[in-house]
Amino acid sequence: MSKDINPYAVKIPISGTAAPLESRFRLNGKILILEKGSDLPHRCVKCNAPSASNLRTTQLRWHHPAWFLTMLLNPLIYMVVYLIVNQSARVTIGLCPQHRRSRNLALAAALVSLFIGFCLMLTGTSTRNDTFSKIGMGVTALAPLLAAWKGTTGIRTVRIDKKEIQLKGFSQAFLDRPQGRDWLSAPKIGR
Ligand SMILES: [Zn+2]
Repeated sequence: MSKDINPYAVKIPISGTAAPLESRFRLNGKILILEKGSDLPHRCVKCNAPSASNLRTTQLRWHHPAWFLTMLLNPLIYMVVYLIVNQSARVTIGLCPQHRRSRNLALAAALVSLFIGFCLMLTGTSTRNDTFSKIGMGVTALAPLLAAWKGTTGIRTVRIDKKEIQLKGFSQAFLDRPQGRDWLSAPKIGR
């Protein structure tokens, strides 16, 4: 198994910490398989530009989807099962300044639409004006769409086990580079 790990793996310094983390991964199609305890390369997951100053550490959680069926028996049983089977891992996901800005803008727009929609619905209810209520509901419904459109990194967890993390949702530019030395021996990125 270990022979599949990228032989060009390098130590990549984490911004703001002294201890470097090694990046050990391999690709399976569009799925990036990362060794637990190592870190993603500090590149924007959307365009592969340097992202050392725009890193965000995320706690990922995963369990096999079949365990959701226990919720049909009883949500409490699912909660107990979840505590037992849930696997978690910390991953640092990079975005370049441009994609970080787009993400922040989309999240801000989602919050604004939520606020305006809520105000319109309240106005509609207090004045018994159906039009206000309907417009309010429409504007509120925009919020999750805006957040999903550009408010996320797009990285999704495929699987987490005791040794590895499988992720998808990376741009082709990001995925293309790990196959060559160039991507890994990229110049050191300033803070
Ligand atoms: Zn980018």
